[in-house]
Amino acid sequence: MKITPGRVRSGVRQTDFINADRLLSEEEMGVRDAVREFVDRELIPSAADHWDRAEFPFDLLPGLGGLGIMGGVFSPEYGCAGWNNVAYGLAIAELARGSGSLATFLHVQSGLAMTAIHELGSEEQKQRWLPGMARCEKIGCFGLTEPEAGSDPGSLTTTAVERDGGYVLDGEKKWIGNASFADVAVIWARTEDGKISGFVVEGDNPGFHTDVLPRKASQRAVWQTHIRLEGCHVPEDARLPGATSLGSTLAVLTHSRYGVGWDGLGQAADCYETALAYAGEREQFGQPIAAFQLVQQKLVDMVNEISLAQLLSVHVGRLKDDGLLDAPTVSMFKMNNVAKARRIAALAREVLGGNGVLLDYRVMEHMADIEGVYTYEGTNDVNTLIVGQAITGHRAFSARPPKDASRDGRAEEKPR
Ligand SMILES: Cc1cc2nc3c(=O)[nH]c(=O)nc-3n(C[C@H](O)[C@H](O)[C@H](O)COP(=O)(O)OP(=O)(O)OC[C@H]3O[C@@H](n4cnc5c(N)ncnc54)[C@H](O)[C@@H]3O)c2cc1C
Repeated sequence: MKITPGRVRSGVRQTDFINADRLLSEEEMGVRDAVREFVDRELIPSAADHWDRAEFPFDLLPGLGGLGIMGGVFSPEYGCAGWNNVAYGLAIAELARGSGSLATFLHVQSGLAMTAIHELGSEEQKQRWLPGMARCEKIGCFGLTEPEAGSDPGSLTTTAVERDGGYVLDGEKKWIGNASFADVAVIWARTEDGKISGFVVEGDNPGFHTDVLPRKASQRAVWQTHIRLEGCHVPEDARLPGATSLGSTLAVLTHSRYGVGWDGLGQAADCYETALAYAGEREQFGQPIAAFQLVQQKLVDMVNEISLAQLLSVHVGRLKDDGLLDAPTVSMFKMNNVAKARRIAALAREVLGGNGVLLDYRVMEHMADIEGVYTYEGTNDVNTLIVGQAITGHRAFSARPPKDASRDGRAEEKPR
């Protein structure tokens, strides 16, 4: 027996056990359904092959750019759709349902690069980059992480030295999505006053070099890159005027992390739907495995967690629309949805038995992709500590006391 992705999707009702659709407006459901239709028609038929071959689906970029999903919440003034945050989140969940890797492409393009330019850039930088990025005609990346600076980005060592009417950037960045084909890179570097600032670097800058990270077992259909900045000269106006400290990255990460929470919901729902369909069709001991209590327990566990995540996701989106969403709540949201997705993917794989490890069923692909999501946008541990600090008032990131900015130049010491 073989359940193709198409059969699974057409045969199963969209997961909504608690009728959470009642929380949504017609417009929000319209956005979701349009993305779902694209995902079913254009993305899913080739997604497993792209993942297997570690190929990025470049042919999907025009269609993706036509959906309005990139920078979906930003204003039409910048060529963006101007959706509310719930519609944007629903769209992300649909994309993630079809491919966790393509959702990661979105988080980098839209959640990180576009958001950095939108929140911290000059009007000229916004007008120059955002409309093309919204249409996926221009690709962006976001370089914060370095080989020796991951959860603690305040320890980054890339430098930006003022020279020849601009800045010269030197250093290395690791794990940077989309960088090997990016038109524009948002690079975080330390200026001579010791502060961390953001710079817009064009992909064809002769001092900007990229190597795609090979042999990756998660997020295979999207590429992460090692960047070398070697005497990379950028003009004065490449500096993001709003990026004045490490804290500036927080506004960007908070927005992007919000999108990543919806990603967990989408991938979890796809795993559950595959497992539910499989359990109804696979027979052992003369009956569908869905009739066994232990299998039902797993399915119920999954749909229960998905239902709770749906409520949380819409609530968090409404908070964001009302300007009431703070960083610890976003951390809890990302932490919950992605950790639950990780568990749900493992349960779904169990329900599929041996077939669960075949890429054709997509559950293993989600499982592997979720490992990357569990780590980026703040590891599960780091987000736990952000929530922990919010509820206890105690900072548990570091055993050492906060450093004196005047002595070591680190204006702030913030986890990502
Ligand atoms: C698929 C993928 C895509 C990515 N894309 C990008 C990108 O586009 N741009 C970008 O800038 N970065 C990107 N990253 C990097 C990502 O943000 C980092 O991997 C992440 O911040 C963790 O850093 P690290 O890998 O160096 O792990 P480390 O920080 O070395 O952490 C290792 C382990 O130690 C734990 N740990 C660390 N500090 C603490 C602490 N204080 N308390 C308790 N536990 C702690 C962590 O939770 C983790 O389990 C990506 C990563 C992945 C895997």
